[in-house]
Amino acid sequence: MVLGTYKEAISARATDKAIQNVAQDGGIVTALLSYALEEKIIEGAVVAGPGEEEWKPEPLVAMTPEELISAAGTKYTFSPNVWMLKEAVRQYGLEKVGTVGIPCQLMGIRKMQSYPFGTRFIADKLALIVGIFCMENFPRASLETFVDEKMNSSLESVEKMDIGMGKFIVNTQDDELNIPLKETHGYEQAGCNVCKDYTAELADVSTGSVGSPAGWSTVLTRTDTGASIFKDAVDAGIIETKSMDDVKPGLGLLEKLSTSKKDKSQKEIDKRRDMGLPVPF
Ligand code: SF4
Repeated sequence: MVLGTYKEAISARATDKAIQNVAQDGGIVTALLSYALEEKIIEGAVVAGPGEEEWKPEPLVAMTPEELISAAGTKYTFSPNVWMLKEAVRQYGLEKVGTVGIPCQLMGIRKMQSYPFGTRFIADKLALIVGIFCMENFPRASLETFVDEKMNSSLESVEKMDIGMGKFIVNTQDDELNIPLKETHGYEQAGCNVCKDYTAELADVSTGSVGSPAGWSTVLTRTDTGASIFKDAVDAGIIETKSMDDVKPGLGLLEKLSTSKKDKSQKEIDKRRDMGLPVPF
């Protein structure tokens, strides 16, 4: 299946206005982790915190809904959340840990759970893994370069970043600027060219904007754990939902982008293999 194994696909958003105001799309990551925290399903969550420099996220062990809200929003550059899982267990003493990650981070986490040599003390404590859709990611220096040089702006003045309609978009206090994605491809992390997972296929619950209208997110529940926590959050009124059949652009767009990523990466993998270069798959 081009979206990986999932139980249900649904359009959803957080009902809490405080989350809606800071969220990238429907605020599902923040709402779901906050719900899990409040219900003591997890004791803390490793998320991409704001960091000390603008647009340079640093992993944070969030212990309160307020700390989760401080980490809301997509950053488009890497936050080493997997590394922080050890801290969450060893330094914070958490027995039940939640986290959010992009697909490649989730591959590392699931591998650690499957072959927990030396890491069982972390692997057994992961109680909720939320994945976010990811087409590409940029080193922070690359973001700085193309925001400065191609968009005539600066990271310090950027309030929100987004990708949509084939464009990389930044919002400053007074303006919305964009450049075609084909102009940002050269700045991506090298590994993104051979990455075939767009929808975080190894998550308990995956989410991202594609497929749903503005202000909403598409959600794929994948595991029993993920489906159960998501359903309980909906029943508790923390998250509201709409059928994917009733929203536009709908699941077809998500399938199209996921297929395109898999095909494009497979071509690059084949090319590298033909050249005798090492490939990860
Ligand atoms: S495209 Fe793949 S390798 Fe690149 S950041 Fe996203 S999940 Fe990781």
